[in-house]
Amino acid sequence: MPNPPNRIVAKNIRWQPDLVGRARREALAGHHGVVLWLTGLSGAGKTTVARGVEEALVDRGLRAYTLDAENVRHGLNADLGFSPEDRAEHIRRLGEVAKIFADAATICIVACIAPYREARAKIRQRIGADFLEIHVATPLAVCEERDPRGLYARARRGEIPNFTGVSAPYEAPLDAELELHTEGRPVAACVDEIVAFLEARDLIPIASDEG
Ligand code: ADP
Repeated sequence: MPNPPNRIVAKNIRWQPDLVGRARREALAGHHGVVLWLTGLSGAGKTTVARGVEEALVDRGLRAYTLDAENVRHGLNADLGFSPEDRAEHIRRLGEVAKIFADAATICIVACIAPYREARAKIRQRIGADFLEIHVATPLAVCEERDPRGLYARARRGEIPNFTGVSAPYEAPLDAELELHTEGRPVAACVDEIVAFLEARDLIPIASDEG
């Protein structure tokens, strides 16, 4: 197992190797498995852009899946809230699931605020070179003006505790692979920028290569 392990409490377990292997799965898919982690404030555009990228890739016959942090809170992470400890466990689990998707030769697009630098650094360390951090760098004022679900207004009234950007911190990435600007741009331009970024890194075939 090449990546640093989590702290393992179980005894008498060992890593079970698989027969097929990552390389064959990627050959079958025709592209690499990778984790695109979209981090940014609420309302920055993570979910909107993630869904658009997923659709653009699937339209091209590639295996992509959006791991939406809020959706995961309905199931796997239904036991977690928004305290710093719960947020850390929330993104640890998301990171582990995303890692499995990448191993399964899928382009896993994670839309998750993940406000703490340290937590993101841990995921980066755990996933390794397959982890690509995309900072959806929409300024707070713009997110607050968009307020697509009225959450900022409620947070400002003190109705939502630990709300990132209002009553909880957001630590912007210092070393993101891509800084995406959404302000005043159509969603499609942002989607195209991420698809071009994947092509430039040779992670997916360039459009004209496809047959
Ligand atoms: P997040 O997932 O980061 O909380 P959402 O995707 O739910 O954000 O909401 C972003 C809002 O901003 C949506 O209402 C979307 O239509 C709007 N928006 C405007 N321009 C863009 C853009 N270029 N990219 C993404 N979202 C945009």
